[in-house]
Amino acid sequence: MSDFTGLTALVAGGASGIGRATAGLLAERGARAAVLDLHPSPVAKPLLGLRADVTDDASVRAAVTEAAEALGGLDILVNNAGIGAQGTVEDNDDAEWRHVFDVNVHGTARTARLPYLCRTARARLPCLRRAAAARPGTAAVVNACSVAATAGLPQRFLYSATKGAVHSLTLAMAADHVREGIRVNPGTADTPWAGRLLDAAPDPAAERAAPEARRPTGRLVSAAEVAGAVAYWAGPLSGAATGTALAVGGGTQGL
Ligand code: NAD
Repeated sequence: MSDFTGLTALVAGGASGIGRATAGLLAERGARAAVLDLHPSPVAKPLLGLRADVTDDASVRAAVTEAAEALGGLDILVNNAGIGAQGTVEDNDDAEWRHVFDVNVHGTARTARLPYLCRTARARLPCLRRAAAARPGTAAVVNACSVAATAGLPQRFLYSATKGAVHSLTLAMAADHVREGIRVNPGTADTPWAGRLLDAAPDPAAERAAPEARRPTGRLVSAAEVAGAVAYWAGPLSGAATGTALAVGGGTQGL
């Protein structure tokens, strides 16, 4: 496991699930870390909790700047904020379509963009570029993707479309920034959040049985197991990996 001593990290959507497990793991391994979330109140010390809505440019800008100032820079960004959506092409109306895209796709692009732009009061270069220039191999972005991006999951029409977009924009980012030394990888998962999505389905028991039956491990994956993969992409041990997806899905293939 990578050592994050001396590195700084911001986890968007880090107050729950995978993000919470990731922020905790990075801090445990030595990083100074902050969490940006709609509801940052569950975040415990030593993590810094910052309230922001990834659909709102001004609040993300303020939180990224505050994180960079408080932590003394920003080497690692984990873009984990995301919401689910259940249903087929018949079920999601325009308002839901716009909202889920706004959080999952525009929110990821917005939160990814700002560390390229924001700088602390004393810094000449924006955070991520400064990190890449100062310590080659440490600047990393991980965008939360999903097996839904490519697996063709039933009842995930809108959600799959958003994660497909996140997957594509992540590969484009990786290509754009590889020469600057900023690595960008799409993370994916299947965690208790999937359980919550399944619980909202019309027949949770049947829904729950189906995806588990498709998984060779026969169980849902834990947030901690996904956090381990995110930490791999975020840390120096994956120094040559950019634009790579890793399916942490109990043997379910998708990306
Ligand atoms: P979660 O609901 O436990 O955590 C998501 C966090 O994002 C929450 O803390 C929430 O407050 C925050 N958030 C939501 N909307 C926000 C907004 N507008 N602005 C700021 N913060 C916001 O979910 P999770 O299971 O940890 O999933 C995290 C990511 O992983 C998501 O992007 C999800 O799509 C992806 N993912 C999860 C699974 C899974 O099964 N859990 C599978 C594949 C992909």
